[in-house]
This record gives sequence, C-alpha cells and structure tokens, in this order.
Amino acid sequence: MLETICETMVEAYRRNWITSRDGNVSIRHHDRDHFYITPSGVRKQTLQPDQFKRIKINKWINSGNGVGVYGYAWEELDYTDISKNLKPSGEIPLHFGLQKEMGQHIDDVRVVMHFHPTYCVAAMHAGIQLNELVKNFPELSRYTNVAPNVPDVPPISQELADYCHKNLELDNNGNIKYDIVGIKGHGVVSIDSSPWRAFEHIERLEHICHIVLASGNY
Ligand SMILES: [Zn+2]
Repeated sequence: MLETICETMVEAYRRNWITSRDGNVSIRHHDRDHFYITPSGVRKQTLQPDQFKRIKINKWINSGNGVGVYGYAWEELDYTDISKNLKPSGEIPLHFGLQKEMGQHIDDVRVVMHFHPTYCVAAMHAGIQLNELVKNFPELSRYTNVAPNVPDVPPISQELADYCHKNLELDNNGNIKYDIVGIKGHGVVSIDSSPWRAFEHIERLEHICHIVLASGNY
C-alpha cells in the first residue's frame, strides 16, 4: 500500500492539491504496533516506498496509587537505509493521534491523508464553513461526513493536531465521527481504510467547493 500512497501523492500534485514538498500520509495495519508515514522535505511527486518512516506506537500504563493512567509515545524504527537519513513528516502529532488507536478500523487499515486542495482552502479563506456548505449538496453526505472547520492554527504544531482531533471527534478508543476536516488557511485531513478511499473524500469536497466558488453564490 505504500506504493499506492505514492500514486495518490502524484495525483494530488497533478491536481494542484500540493506543491512539491507539501502533503503527508500515514498508514497503519490493525495487527501491527507501528505505522508508516511520509518523510519530511522530500519531493512528493517522486516519493518512493523505501523513503517512508516506520513509527512504533508505545502505550505506557502507570497503575500506581490504584489509578490506571496511560499515555502514548512514538519511536522511530529502522526501515530502509534510505529512510534512516530522513525525518518523519512535521505533522506527525496529527498522524500519531489518529493512528495510536484504530477505532472503527480495528479489523482493517487506517490511512490518514493531509493535502492542501485549492478550492477547499479557497472556500475556507472566503469564510465558508465546510460542514455548513455540504448541507446544500446531499449527494456528498452519502459518502463523506465533513467536520466543522479548524480555525487558523500554526502548521506542524501540537495545537493543529489537537484541534483536528477535537473537531473530528476522535475518542479514546480511536473512533472518529467524521471523514474529513478543513484547516483554515492551510488544507484538509481525511481518514479511511485505503489511500484511494481517503483521497476520494478530499476529491468530493474539493468538487463541491469548486462548484460553490464558481457559482459566486456563497
Ligand atoms: Zn499542510
């Protein structure tokens, strides 16, 4: 599936959803305690599977005082000689929070995809709430549930991660209420069980945003 992720990034670049070094994607298989994430600072339209970073999910439990407290930490694992010299995407807090528990993908695969699609970002820049917008386009909500926008937050920050998790309604078991969330002045994050399924959430929302902006009626 890493090869498929590379294909989605080529397609995202072709559609102007990212410039060369933008965008990041992670993937976790339900039966593994690690996930793969795209590296930071490489040209995404020429990304290769052996450039991915492998990240272990460590869950710690402290049961002192009879009160169970737990938390998570991530750790880089060796994957390939090439990936050894690369850093994981700067958006790793966003991905880690969404990959540490599998939620509704407990018997499956989870893909988290972050791109900067032109019309989604333009719509938010124009003050449009993406979750309100889609109410006029019921076809979209048959397949894609859109979360309330995340306001302007700094990129590659814990704040961005926390806000996305909150608006996606991520719970402690990893369940997520929505399929996609927009971040104002930045991009979108979508989640599903395969790279192309996650891609399609972005594609559908981008199409509606394009239509609305073309109509001038918003
Ligand atoms: Zn971004």
